[in-house]
Amino acid sequence: MKTEDINSVVDRVLISEEEIRRKVAEVGARISRDYAGKEPLIVAVLSGSFIFASDLVRAITIPVGISFIYASSYGEGSESTGRVDIRTGKGGLDAEGRDVIIVEDIVDTGRTLSAVRDFLIEKGAKSVEICTFLDKPARRVVPVDVRYMCFDIPNEFVVGYGLDYAYKYRQLPFVGVLKPEVYEEN
Ligand code: 5GP
Repeated sequence: MKTEDINSVVDRVLISEEEIRRKVAEVGARISRDYAGKEPLIVAVLSGSFIFASDLVRAITIPVGISFIYASSYGEGSESTGRVDIRTGKGGLDAEGRDVIIVEDIVDTGRTLSAVRDFLIEKGAKSVEICTFLDKPARRVVPVDVRYMCFDIPNEFVVGYGLDYAYKYRQLPFVGVLKPEVYEEN
């Protein structure tokens, strides 16, 4: 299948741009209320959360710090390898004594978030809460306590709004399901 226009790879839109906009504003307002008087540290888990995190922080009205960590549990395809690699940028990540909010694209088995959470506790965070754009509760293997969640989705592989398939389609402004022939190509 030729993919000159990335919109042509999408079979179905699951969550529209407008729904995303409304929900992210709502979650940003909740965080602003819950952390009033504090200055939480947002830790965005790259790569998948880069779009969600950038929209979310602009919906938060209290001062926040923003850091990034890189975590990957998926290879090129759509199946988890079960192993989680965590890396920080140069200079590491200073979470000591901070109220941390982990910002993630999607919780699937829970392995990534559980590893990231442990990593931040080990770094001396005062509190650690989780904010995820998507949640696939049916797939959970490791229990994780999610404090903020935008959308609950069924057990389908989705792309867009930061989520990729084989490093592509992150730039789609909505969340969608790919046409089956896209997988057959790979
Ligand atoms: P977990 O460790 O919870 O199994 O997986 C979390 C990671 O798996 C996410 O950060 C994301 O990179 C990837 N993942 C899980 N489900 C999906 C999905 O439906 N679409 C995409 N693109 N990535 C997913």
